[in-house]
Amino acid sequence: MRFKRMLLITNVHPDIPKISSHGLLGAQLAASLITANTPYRCQVLGVDPGANMDRLEKSIFAYFGNEQPVVGFSNLGGREELFILAERIRNGGGVTILGGPQAKVDFSGEIGWQRFPHRFHGWRNAFSLAVQGPGEQLFPILNRNSFEPQHLPGIVWHQNNKIISSPPNSWQEKFLQFVDWSNLNVFCDDDIQPVNIIQAQVVGAIGCPWARRLKTTFLDYPANLSDTYSHAKIRLSLRGCSFCDVAQDKGFIGRLSVQTVMHQLKQLPEYDGKKIPFELIDENPLPGLPRLLVAVQDEKLRVQRIDLVTRADWLVKNLEKIHDALELAQKMDVQIRLASIGFESFSPRILKQFNKGITLETNLAAIRFMRETKIRFPKHFAYSRREGCHHGFIHPTPWDTPEDWQAIQAVIQHHGLEKDILPAHSLPLIIHHASPLGIWMRAIEYNARFAYPRQNSWIAWWDEPQPKVHIF
Ligand code: SF4
Repeated sequence: MRFKRMLLITNVHPDIPKISSHGLLGAQLAASLITANTPYRCQVLGVDPGANMDRLEKSIFAYFGNEQPVVGFSNLGGREELFILAERIRNGGGVTILGGPQAKVDFSGEIGWQRFPHRFHGWRNAFSLAVQGPGEQLFPILNRNSFEPQHLPGIVWHQNNKIISSPPNSWQEKFLQFVDWSNLNVFCDDDIQPVNIIQAQVVGAIGCPWARRLKTTFLDYPANLSDTYSHAKIRLSLRGCSFCDVAQDKGFIGRLSVQTVMHQLKQLPEYDGKKIPFELIDENPLPGLPRLLVAVQDEKLRVQRIDLVTRADWLVKNLEKIHDALELAQKMDVQIRLASIGFESFSPRILKQFNKGITLETNLAAIRFMRETKIRFPKHFAYSRREGCHHGFIHPTPWDTPEDWQAIQAVIQHHGLEKDILPAHSLPLIIHHASPLGIWMRAIEYNARFAYPRQNSWIAWWDEPQPKVHIF
């Protein structure tokens, strides 16, 4: 059989693209599946924000030579230049496919954009089609080699000014076992270059348990409207944290079996006789961690480090589990690193706006626990910034008042958070148009009769709103 080429482009962080598969795993799994099940040899291409787009476009066309370019795009981090690149490849005769979280809504545009033209219009013209949900839904299209619109699960396309789509298939564990470690590349020095990965990710769960249930909450208006709307609230039905577009998109699909995680783990590259450090993708990893360590021990695998990402409340609820896991990790000489805890804020009022479901006290209890545990397990437990951890702290937000900021500063100073907990830079609140906060923003725009600018798929709450928009 003659194999064809396919590229899968994804956004990567500028500091880590050459050594870490962070942010590449979704594309890596999809590319592994495509290569194993279709005539396409699919390679992942990570592109950081410093890449020169003209040279990247040239390299892509050169990569395909006489073949028609078939290029997937996934997890683009709201980067407009990558959507424009897709448009240019499509206009140049290529096939472009949008996948990953929020693929359908980024393809079709923000709700109601036809009536409210300041809203995000979507990138339907940049892509031949989009795929919502698991990547294996592309198999029939790639196997038939026909990119004509077809009614298939998860496939979304645009025809006669209409978006046409079919509901996606459910995720199947059997498609999450095989990971190809020879398909990762980055665009570097104006060239497509293979990556030598020394830190990896492994999927342990899909979605987030906090997004399992639909909840109703009431959010304040932004601080700059507090004179007009001092006691008013906006009612919101949401899944998960109010800013989390991925949880809104996926909800909680479930946790993978230990066997499936072990399949992935066995395929990890090794360094110095041990599996390279990996992050377990599971928002609530602690209940299953001792079981996973036992499986690693039973299989006689040697592992350097397991990175975990979780919430402060799930850490505090699972103290026994993490101590059990650490006793075992100590015997196995594996380090457990709490790579990122989503504290997000140290203001009770701002935490409430995030619908985070945690209190300031819970955040502080988690920090106390981490510091005490470090004393007990100095070598096999890591949690601090100097150990490479990056905990979540979102600031600024639209709700900030000088009083909130003073209160946050007082907590930071009183508990010495700048020593080990706070990241070098906080992240501003990002509002994706399809996140629960997107609904909140549109309600504010409607009630206050103004419009915030859009920055591609984000609502730019930090810019001046345009008053008296004609569409109202
Ligand atoms: S931000 Fe984290 S905890 Fe909140 S819903 Fe998203 S994945 Fe879950």
